[in-house]
Amino acid sequence: MSADYKVHGDVAVIALNNPPVNGMGLETRLAIVAGIEKATADAAVKAIVITGQGKAFSGGADVREFGTPKALQEPNLRSVFAFVENCSKPVVAAMHSVVMGGGLELALVCHYRLAAPGTSVALPEVKLGLIPGAGGTQRLPRALGVEPALNMIVSGEPIKSEMLAMLPGQKLLDQMATSPQTLMDEALAFAREIADVRPLPKVRDLPCKHPQGDAYFQFARNMVKGMAANYPAPPKALDAVEAATKHKFDEGMAIEREIFINLMWTPESRALRHLFAAQRAASKIADLPSDTPVRNIQLVAVIGAGMMGGGIAMNFLNAGIAVKMLETKQEALDRGVATIQKNYQDRIKKGKLKEDAYAKRMALLSTTLSYDDIKEADLVIEAVFEELGVKEIVFKQLDAVMKPGAILASNTSTLDVNSIANFTKRPQDVVGMHFFSPANVMKLLEVVRGKNTAKDVLATVMDVAKKIKKIAVVSGVCDGFIGNRMINQFGRQAGFLLDEGCTPAQVDRAAEKFGWAMGPFRMSDLAGNDISWAIRKRRYQEQPNLRFSKTADLLCEQGRFGQKTGAGWYDYKPGKRDAIPSKDVEAMIAKHRADIGITPRRISDEEIVQRLTFALVNEAAHILEEGIASKASDIDMVYISGYGFPMYRGGPMNYANELGLFNVVQAMHRFAANPHDDAEFWKPAPLLTQLAAEGKTFN
Ligand code: NAD
Repeated sequence: MSADYKVHGDVAVIALNNPPVNGMGLETRLAIVAGIEKATADAAVKAIVITGQGKAFSGGADVREFGTPKALQEPNLRSVFAFVENCSKPVVAAMHSVVMGGGLELALVCHYRLAAPGTSVALPEVKLGLIPGAGGTQRLPRALGVEPALNMIVSGEPIKSEMLAMLPGQKLLDQMATSPQTLMDEALAFAREIADVRPLPKVRDLPCKHPQGDAYFQFARNMVKGMAANYPAPPKALDAVEAATKHKFDEGMAIEREIFINLMWTPESRALRHLFAAQRAASKIADLPSDTPVRNIQLVAVIGAGMMGGGIAMNFLNAGIAVKMLETKQEALDRGVATIQKNYQDRIKKGKLKEDAYAKRMALLSTTLSYDDIKEADLVIEAVFEELGVKEIVFKQLDAVMKPGAILASNTSTLDVNSIANFTKRPQDVVGMHFFSPANVMKLLEVVRGKNTAKDVLATVMDVAKKIKKIAVVSGVCDGFIGNRMINQFGRQAGFLLDEGCTPAQVDRAAEKFGWAMGPFRMSDLAGNDISWAIRKRRYQEQPNLRFSKTADLLCEQGRFGQKTGAGWYDYKPGKRDAIPSKDVEAMIAKHRADIGITPRRISDEEIVQRLTFALVNEAAHILEEGIASKASDIDMVYISGYGFPMYRGGPMNYANELGLFNVVQAMHRFAANPHDDAEFWKPAPLLTQLAAEGKTFN
């Protein structure tokens, strides 16, 4: 049974019991119905309280049931809710901690509701490309008022119970409890007080009108359209709420249902649900049992206080974990600390950080020039220059001083983590922690598992990642790991597009119309064109037969490194970040085209997007094949959280699955036949060929 039933004198309590968040899976749904039946049949029971045990009232539908037959099995949520609402005895919801989605819809069918202070209340379905599907869009506007309900449903964001209780005229909360600890006693007392009230109040019977009616919805529609351009759910949520104001309750319920089902079938909702599952899956590693012990991390040392070191340190300070930064020179430390202070000051100015929180964070930070001072650290993260020789010096020092059991991590982007591990006599304690710039902002962390990385080291780093609120994805050791190895192919293809006739602005526009946060050339101008230049120079040595467009080298030879030099693929005005198409760069590309004998042709946006995306997908197929990534959904997480791939397309692998891998391979054959592209580039990875032939997807 996923709910416990207990009678306290004349009040029955149904306490949901399905950890971690009392998701309403089949057993829980059955247990709610059984509890209501039992209480109804018991003459001694005058009222019923529904609450949740543990960390939540209820987080809504049970995500573990998604896509399984159980999710659809009766009693489904709607049947359960109708049963609760029609109960002949008063039902009181005692809400605390988390009340989300179906959890809130359950509370809304109870006759009365109490909440503990600090309860997070939300209808987050839009985040999965859906709308609430069990009455949320019809009952919340009645209980809370049309405007605040619409804001909650369209944004999906949680609101604290105290805030809700203050809304004028709200009927969502009948009483605020004094504290979470006293909630149950207060709910029992409340239930006794209202035990004899008849008829029982139902949210469905409340009026639902907005004083400005159509004018309000027109205004709201424009707002939502502006904010949610590529997401179909928010405007549909608005339609559902408007229906609540225009139709009888049961008609509104039917409209909500129809919208919900139609949204379920949109590629955007499929993509968002895929990512929801992908994020959970990323933290599960096949050969790492969930009970793998983790090492205790209380003190972190960061070696190198440069651009990455400072940002990395901030993550830990934000999470309340002490950090010691080590450098070779005092000036470098001072510069690093000043940058951290400036970043925090900017947040204070924007009202996003309080002075006392800032002071607490800075108090956790200390600096040193001596390895002796960091030897007690539980985790060291190295972020020094990207040169193997420098890494060698650092890791040999660390090996000599660090206490046994300390985890030694490198933030290297391109070097071999196994070689770095072998600079020590404890390769089992070495792991890659590849943060993305700016490290205090970017969500992605590639956790690079070396050949000898111990399981508890991996488990600890995954656990630490959660504490510092990163999305961690495990990658094997290879050049560029998952993300940069793929982006290198994407960059090569972007170069071929220039050679054939595109301008940087045209490629970026097509990519951005597809949904990328930034096209490849704007992205490169931001990151610094010199960085990829250095990587290419190494490639020219290692793989002399690999074809590249020469345009990026020509650009760098002119010192156009991007925003930092005021000129890159685009021109920039001093102090501004707006990318202005550059006549000089376009002329340089045209001259190069003429030099290599290409007559430019007009390339469609569709071809641009396909060539860029399939370049990623093909490399990703190699990455899967080689076991560098253990599942396709991990690759999607990398691209969504680290590279600005559009969320509503679910990542490159999900996008390819949606198109059909057969179609992807066909397009690659077409591109290979283009004499100005690179036939070798477009050779499909064996895994891709196989899956396409079998009619399968990357899942
Ligand atoms: P940076 O040049 O800004 O900082 C490097 C710092 O390391 C400098 O402050 C330098 O004084 C210090 N340093 C050098 N040798 C040292 C030593 N022996 N002991 C202690 N400190 C030393 O470089 P960065 O951009 O912060 O990159 C650092 C590492 O992070 C590199 O491995 C890089 O590949 C990786 N990385 C960089 C990015 C990025 O976008 N910049 C992204 C991911 C990973």
